[in-house]
Parts: sequence; C-alpha cells; structure tokens
Amino acid sequence: MPHIAVTGAGVVGLACAAHLQMRDFDVTLVDPLPPGEFCSFGNAGCFSRASCVPLGLPGLWKQVPRWLLDPKGPLSIPWRYGWRIAPWLRRFQRASSRGRVERIADALHALLTVTLDKWRVLAQWAGVPDLVVQRGYAFAYESRAAFDADALGRALRRARGVELEVIEGAAIRAFDPVLSPTLTHLVLLPEQGHCPNPLRLSRALATRLREGGARFVAARATGFDIVDGRVTRVLIEDGAIDVDAVVLAAGAHSKALAARLGNDVPLETERGYHLSIAAPGVAPTIPIASGEGKFFVTPMETGLRIAGTVELAGLDAPPAWARADALLDKARRLLPGLRADGVERWMGHRPSLPDSMPVIGRSTRCANAWFAFGHGHVGLTAAAPTGEIVADLISGRPPFMDIQPFSAKRF
Ligand SMILES: Cc1cc2nc3c(=O)[nH]c(=O)nc-3n(C[C@H](O)[C@H](O)[C@H](O)COP(=O)(O)OP(=O)(O)OC[C@H]3O[C@@H](n4cnc5c(N)ncnc54)[C@H](O)[C@@H]3O)c2cc1C
Repeated sequence: MPHIAVTGAGVVGLACAAHLQMRDFDVTLVDPLPPGEFCSFGNAGCFSRASCVPLGLPGLWKQVPRWLLDPKGPLSIPWRYGWRIAPWLRRFQRASSRGRVERIADALHALLTVTLDKWRVLAQWAGVPDLVVQRGYAFAYESRAAFDADALGRALRRARGVELEVIEGAAIRAFDPVLSPTLTHLVLLPEQGHCPNPLRLSRALATRLREGGARFVAARATGFDIVDGRVTRVLIEDGAIDVDAVVLAAGAHSKALAARLGNDVPLETERGYHLSIAAPGVAPTIPIASGEGKFFVTPMETGLRIAGTVELAGLDAPPAWARADALLDKARRLLPGLRADGVERWMGHRPSLPDSMPVIGRSTRCANAWFAFGHGHVGLTAAAPTGEIVADLISGRPPFMDIQPFSAKRF
C-alpha cells in the first residue's frame, strides 16, 4: 500500500491519518510532541458548525483601538511584534470587505456545517462516541450595544440557514439559573456541539491509528527530498523517511515547510489562553461564549474551561499569563457563582491565515504533497471534514465540497 507521512499529529493531522488508514494507506505520523498536545490540547472544545463568520468583519476596526488599550481586552499586539505582523494585518483588513466576507462565509459554512456528522464517524471509529456532544451553545451579552455590534455575524449565519434563538432579560436565568441576572441577551445556537475532552479525543484517534499499524515518529520534520516534482523523503532531525506522499499538518509551524513545497503562505499565530478549573462550583449546561470578551466557558470532563482571546505575539515569546488570569474575572460576569479552586493555565498557538480560512489542497511544486493547516479558531471543528477531504484527494476521489477557496495559491 502507498506510504503517506503526515507531518504534525495535532487534531488535524490525526484526522487526516485516520481517514487515510480507513482507505488502507500505510501511515506514519511525524511529530516531536505526543499526539494532540500542542494547540489541539487546550481549545474551547466547540464543534462550531455555525462558525462561518470570519474574524475580519467590515466594522471591526472601530473596536480595535479600544481593545488594544485595555491590557485585559480580547486582542493584544505587543509593540515589539507590531512591525512583524503589519503585512498580515494589511491582508486581514483586505479580507474584511463585505464582498470578501460573504465569499469566505460561504466557503467556511460548506466546510464546517458538516462537522458533527464527520466527527461522529471518526469518534465511533476511535471508540469514543461519547466525545461528540450536541446540545448547542450560546453567546451571552452584557449590554444591548454589544448585542447590536454582533448583528452582522448573526445575519451572515441566518443567511446560511443557521438556527438562532434570542432570549432576553429574565428569561435568561430561566434558561439556566447559573447565568448572571445582569446579562441582557442570550443567543442560543441549538445545533452546535462540543467535545468534553479534546485531548482524550486526539489520544483515542492515535491509539486506534497505532492499532491499525500506523507508526508515530517522535521527531521534527526539517524538509523534504524532492525529485522530478515529487517528494521522495521527509527529512527529520536525524534521518529521513521514504514516502509515496506527504500531508503537511504542522499547525502554526507549517509556514517554512510549505515554502519548501513551493507555497509562500502568510501563516501567523494567534495565541490564545485557557484557565481550567477543577472545582468551579457552577455547572452551565452548555458552553457559553462571551459576546464582549470573545471567550468560551465550556463544561469539560476535567472541570470548567475558560478559553479564548487573541494575542499576536508570534511563536517564540513567553506566555503573558496575566491575559489568562484576566479570563477569571470576565467569566464571573457571566457566572457569578464561579469559584477558582484548582486552576490550571495554558497558552496555545492557533495557526491563522489572514482571511480566517485554512489551506487545504495540493502543493504547487509537488504533485504528491498535500496541505492541511491554518485552521485558526476552528481547527477542532474543521479537522474531521479536512481529514476526509485530504484522504479523498490522495485517493483520487472528488471531495464532498469545492475546495478551491482553500487553495494555497490564493495568496
Ligand atoms: C484558546 C483557544 C480556543 C480554541 N477553541 C476552539 C474551539 O472551540 N473549536 C475549534 O474548532 N477550534 C478551537 N481552537 C482552535 C484549534 O484548537 C486549532 O485550530 C487546532 O488545534 C489546530 O490543530 P492543528 O492540528 O492544525 O495544530 P496543532 O494542534 O498545533 O498540531 C500541530 C502539530 O504539528 C507539530 N509540529 C510542529 N512543527 C513540526 C515539524 N516541523 N515537524 C513535525 N511536526 C511538527 C506540533 O508539535 C503539533 O503537535 C481554539 C484555539 C485556542 C488557542
């Protein structure tokens, strides 16, 4: 059977490997870390089939100065990194026009709306169907102004058939008594899902892959041997792996490897943080997102996870833990009974392209090299559909959707 190397064993690489193994390919995963322990470890766990709304929206720039001036705000750009991120921000702004936003929303919607069906297949295959929960989630707002500021996002979702229910005033506490009486609006999205333990999900995929004969090589991919437009070997720190094809799924570290495969992609990292609270004293029935704070509070097997915020500070800067700590006070504005017993902090690197869309498809230089990276805020959601698409492409079958919008050549 053809031998495929998947570089990167985050949730995206694991989903690609799983679908390749289901199609009887011989699979090797290459990653210096154990499966699922980089960005895929600490996300908010939401299967956001409604996340067709890109980050860059027409009116967003009006809010940016206020966010940047607030050290605990939802967006941070350390001044030292500002000049390096400037070209990415320019592309981000160009992708924020109304016309681009509609096209991006169409493409993201096609990829994400199928997530729960695609994840059920993978979770069943890995023996963990309990990790795909569909009870919905909600956006909570502390003022009408904040609710109104998200009107375009709601319109983009509604136009694509996403079910939304707006609950106001006292009815919010009737919906879930743990929520603060000061909330003015709750937007319920009943079709969404969540994973109560993203690390267990990655580990279950890895276990099933091993049982099926996949090899895990604990090494960093450093490059590729390319002969006549085809990758023949993946180079690792102290050796090389012979391959028939390669999938690049190294998350936020994919840029340099993609360049070796012929594509210069403006991949950056949006760092995010979480607080995991083992004994929170409150138990919301579904994940709750803060409309103002841009973070989620998700009920997990390990306690309550408060996850989110965006920090544009690159791959190497040390964590700014004050940003994680700030999440606690903000979460208490949604859940007044929240206690902080047994808190763990985490920082992760979202792999982000400026138009909020991933890169999925063939490399320009090598006919047998395939890209699956850059999923930004929706990598858990998009992993299962992406894995199926990549395995279909490598098998020579048409994928379930048009993947042209995700081509690396768009940059
Ligand atoms: C705070 C926060 C909340 C989030 N919430 C959600 C959410 O609710 N829902 C959602 O869908 N998404 C969410 N995300 C986004 C999601 O977590 C990411 O998009 C996703 O984990 C990316 O997966 P990945 O496999 O591409 O990358 P990663 O998980 O980062 O995996 C990439 C792997 O590549 C490896 N690697 C790096 N360099 C090399 C190399 N040279 N050779 C070999 N391997 C290499 C790394 O070690 C790593 O294991 C959130 C992210 C954050 C930070």
